[in-house]
Amino acid sequence: MKKNILVVGSGLYGSIFAHEAAKLGHKVTVIEKRDHVGGNIYTKEVEGIQFHQYGAHIFHTSNKAVWDYVNQFAEFNRYTNSPIANYNGEIYNLPFNMNTFSKLWGVTTPEEARIKIEDQRKSFGIGEPKNLEEQAISLVGSDIYEKLIKSYTEKQWGRKCTELPAFIIKRLPVRFTYDNNYFNDRYQGIPIGGYTRIIEKMLESPNIEVKLDTDFFANQAELESNADKVIYTGMIDQYFDYKYGELEYRSLKFETEVLDEENYQGNAVVNYTDEKTEFTRIIEHKHFEFGNQEKTIITREYPSDWKKGDEPYYPVNDEKNNKVFEKYLKLAKSQNKVIFGGRLGMYKYYDMHKVIEEALIAFGNLELS
Ligand code: FAD
Ligand code: UDP
Repeated sequence: MKKNILVVGSGLYGSIFAHEAAKLGHKVTVIEKRDHVGGNIYTKEVEGIQFHQYGAHIFHTSNKAVWDYVNQFAEFNRYTNSPIANYNGEIYNLPFNMNTFSKLWGVTTPEEARIKIEDQRKSFGIGEPKNLEEQAISLVGSDIYEKLIKSYTEKQWGRKCTELPAFIIKRLPVRFTYDNNYFNDRYQGIPIGGYTRIIEKMLESPNIEVKLDTDFFANQAELESNADKVIYTGMIDQYFDYKYGELEYRSLKFETEVLDEENYQGNAVVNYTDEKTEFTRIIEHKHFEFGNQEKTIITREYPSDWKKGDEPYYPVNDEKNNKVFEKYLKLAKSQNKVIFGGRLGMYKYYDMHKVIEEALIAFGNLELS
């Protein structure tokens, strides 16, 4: 029995669901409130350069099945993310590794670096880390915390490091080798031709109809009644009309310039880790694909508070919000027609590989017969 499936949101999660359902012959309608598909991984060509409109996206995973899956839709280049940090004009390598330690302290061996970190950790008397500040000092010591973490993090999240969960900083590797690769994953790269092409390929099927500029909440009752299943990838609290209160998100403002020069900053990502610079990072898009165009495009990223109507780029997964989310999740699980997924539907700080993994698992668990 073929079903009518409604997918709300054409980001990675919704598009995978649509693709898999269409392959089985189901009839899929994808609605998207923006004027383009792709969600936050959307890229478009500007001046011959793939421009990451909603922030830099680097694909990385250790999951072979996820890597094979995404490679059906694109060929990936050999880009390895190695951001640098600019702290008041001092340049450091990220993530925290022997290059960082050596520049900061003049140490040359892993043993010397470990001793330095251990001394700083001890002088703060930190046991089991209770928040991001304690976690950071216990991983890399107080010098790195002060220069490379504290202000960047407080700009990014709009709150003190002592009020943030430790897990956020554990996303970054700490290494005692001279290795500037930002990720530990086995596979990494940028899709040649951009991310939007991946989504377009996923949605290329006679069984899929895509409707842009269409907000689910403008017509919820009718859209739901016409569907056998709904895959919802928008904000979970909005779906339930904020019944248990609003979840908090963090938003971003992007300031982009096309420059009449070939190479602005010599790296794809430069983080500004001082307190005074209002933006957190500058992305130079061409370096994700080793471009040699005459012009370049840069984007400054300014974190901002989120209010209704802004783009909810990051969930704020602290204890308070997670508790509210748990209530929504319970409600979500009781809806048998609607599946909630993706970064906003699950209110989780998911990277792309995790979204693919979750979408494929959820699709596999779905009974569509
Ligand atoms: P989204 O991409 O948010 O898609 C949801 C879609 O639903 C959107 O298109 C939205 O417009 C639509 N929608 C929402 N509500 C409605 C509604 N009511 N009606 C109709 N449509 C609706 N991940 C990595 O792996 N590597 C990176 O380097 C990386 N960098 C990132 C940088 C930034 C600045 C951000 C914000 C994220 C980054 N990510 C990165 C994470 C990545 O963007 C996500 O994992 C992925 O895009 C999530 O896909 P999704 O489908 O869950 O959500
Ligand atoms: N971070 C930091 N200094 C940096 C880069 C990252 O302190 O130069 C911290 C910051 O708290 C950030 C977290 O590490 O929120 C995760 O960084 P990541 O680059 O994974 O963030 P994203 O790309 O998702 O914004």
